[in-house]
This record gives sequence, C-alpha cells and structure tokens, in this order.
Amino acid sequence: MSVLQKLKSVLPVEDEGVTRRTYECQDCGNVFESAKTPDRAECMECLSADVAEQD
Ligand SMILES: [Zn+2]
Repeated sequence: MSVLQKLKSVLPVEDEGVTRRTYECQDCGNVFESAKTPDRAECMECLSADVAEQD
C-alpha cells in the first residue's frame, strides 16, 4: 500500500457516501440542501432550526 493510500484510508471520506438531504425552512420557506442530520440542520437564510426534511 502506498503512503497516499494509507492516508486516504485513515481520513474520513467526506464526498462519498454522505447523504444530502433537502430541507424546507418552516419560518421563511427557504429550500436548501444539507448533509446535516435533521436535528442539526438550520436555515442558511434566517438561521432558524425549524426545518422540515423533504423527500
Ligand atoms: Zn429560514
């Protein structure tokens, strides 16, 4: 195994296997994507944490 492959194996993979969810802000209606879980996601427009996950 090369050094680069070893580094990749220990670093967290951030762009593969990350579930991106679509949320709608319940305060301002902004629809946005986030990789955060529903309890951590917040609206980027008004910073409200009152967001609903979309299908
Ligand atoms: Zn909002």
